[in-house]
Amino acid sequence: MRIAVVHKDRCHSRKCGTECILYCPRVRTGDETVIIGEDGKAVISEELCVGCGICVKKCPFEAIDIVSLPEELEQPTHRYGVNGFALYGLPIPVEGKVTGILGANGIGKSTAVKILSGQLTPNLGIFDRTAGWEEILREYTGTELFDYLLTISTKKLKVAVKPQYIDYIPRVFSGTAGELLASTDERGRLGNYISALTLEPVLDSDIATLSGGELQRVAIAACLARDADFYFLDEITPFLDIYQRMAAATLIRELAASRPIVIVEHDLAILDMLADTVHVAYGKPAVFGVITQPKGVRVGINQYLEGYLPEENVRFREYPVVFEKRAHEKQAERETLLEFPKMEKRYDRFRLVVGAGDISAGEVLGLVGANGIGKSTFARLLAGVEEPDGGPVELNARVSYKPQYLKATCSDTVEFFLRQSSRTFDTPIYQHDIIEPLSLGPILQSPVDTLSGGELQRVAIAACLSRDADLYILDEPSAHLDVEQRVRITRMFRHHADGRGAAILVIDHDIYLIDMISERILVFDGEPGISGEATGPFGMREGMNRFLSRLGVTFRRDRSGRPRINKPGSYLDRDQKAGGEYYYYTEDQV
Ligand code: ADP
Ligand code: ADP
Ligand code: MG
Repeated sequence: MRIAVVHKDRCHSRKCGTECILYCPRVRTGDETVIIGEDGKAVISEELCVGCGICVKKCPFEAIDIVSLPEELEQPTHRYGVNGFALYGLPIPVEGKVTGILGANGIGKSTAVKILSGQLTPNLGIFDRTAGWEEILREYTGTELFDYLLTISTKKLKVAVKPQYIDYIPRVFSGTAGELLASTDERGRLGNYISALTLEPVLDSDIATLSGGELQRVAIAACLARDADFYFLDEITPFLDIYQRMAAATLIRELAASRPIVIVEHDLAILDMLADTVHVAYGKPAVFGVITQPKGVRVGINQYLEGYLPEENVRFREYPVVFEKRAHEKQAERETLLEFPKMEKRYDRFRLVVGAGDISAGEVLGLVGANGIGKSTFARLLAGVEEPDGGPVELNARVSYKPQYLKATCSDTVEFFLRQSSRTFDTPIYQHDIIEPLSLGPILQSPVDTLSGGELQRVAIAACLSRDADLYILDEPSAHLDVEQRVRITRMFRHHADGRGAAILVIDHDIYLIDMISERILVFDGEPGISGEATGPFGMREGMNRFLSRLGVTFRRDRSGRPRINKPGSYLDRDQKAGGEYYYYTEDQV
């Protein structure tokens, strides 16, 4: 089984030599395997296509994908027209449970939710007639989904949605955060959500003036406060620090006691504590997506990290993701790259104090702490973008810096932009080390100011790593990236530091990313928005203990080495707290 997908936004038959038709061996023998449709876009006949892949290579705009599907797949649940994206399977919302969907973006998660909420009637991949509900139900007879589909075929379900991109909210709503929230208070629970998410200080603020983290918490409260048949939250963690992630997760778990909830989440530590079951979503973004049967959350995440699904007999990634028994064994051998002095920085209302510290050549240094505690300020001091009080510091190191907030102001193409920061753009190494892991190939010709948040993040990471430097500083690189892209940047950063004796400093809230990537960590503590103090760098064990003890959260490791959040008040939680082991290490992981 094979499908051919034409990405219409990238197909410009008037600007190319219609190479897809010209070079198709079947067309040469007289078949109409590829034609140009009425809309000027290529149409590929899946019946006639032999899957030689020549058109895929010849298309100058990378507009065609032809892929073989895993054998087990039969009929798609939905397909967006001929040569459109195909979705297989569906997640099943369950009363009293949080159902997670775990997988890359562009793999059909939102499409699945549109079907579950009744906004989109699935077409089973049939375009020449309308597949009625009767046919759809027949297709799902005997499956766990049957009852659910029967319900949506007969009645309109009310769904409350927390959308993935929250930045559009100020465009559709004008008024204060308090006004927006008041309109959603359908179960009388709003007050509780406002205090649990510490939203009191922003209730009188205009929605348009909120920070990303504030807007995210408003959006979560607004979704949970509704009275709905099911709740869908598409990523709750962007812009939130780990304290806020935990608070939001706790509220969702409470609501799940009485309502079905479906979530998409790329922070796996949070997904792990939040979901009861997960459906792994795999496939090829924008081409096809498969949603597996539900798996227990522990097993599902482990299979995902392994890159292999035993029940489905599918390997969807060539390598497993491992939580290594500490790469920081190397720390002892590392030479000091730079030493930074004690620094202070005062703003009108905020004061940061940084203790003197050092950074080693070849290491990846993690940086953790709450929002508003001075992490980005510290990054700017090191990068020389800002001076500490009392004058500039001389670090004797070339610094390449990716700021937290990215602005796409130029209309140059991605390729043009990247060529400005690298002289090696045309080399195979650049392709292999930068372009491929960040999947930049398809967007090289896109103007920078048309990119989505995730695309812009990947381009900014590429530009940062492209420069020649001794110290690379990346402020929140996981923001807007899906779980698969996070896995890739983790490997990339380690490789980058190791290979050139440079150091990489990563600020992030994703605990798995920090755990996988860091050899040592810097810990930020204080009172958000008022004062911050940076200490360290510490070894992982000491640093994580310092950080997590303030959070009051303990982690254990399962057999695969993966950290898992202990349930608050559970035996392990109490035991580890008593022993001061907030981040559990076995003997050989010290
Ligand atoms: P996810 O939520 O996993 O990011 P989506 O369900 O939003 O994925 O989209 C999966 C793919 O389906 C997209 O990459 C896009 O190619 C395609 N798609 C989504 N909506 C439409 C549509 N209305 N018409 C045609 N194709 C669409
Ligand atoms: P973090 O990165 O840990 O979230 P930041 O370093 O961005 O924190 O900010 C710490 C505090 O300093 C915040 O309260 C912020 O409002 C304040 N701040 C940051 N930059 C400036 C500035 N240029 N002028 C005044 N206050 C600032
Ligand atoms: Mg910051």
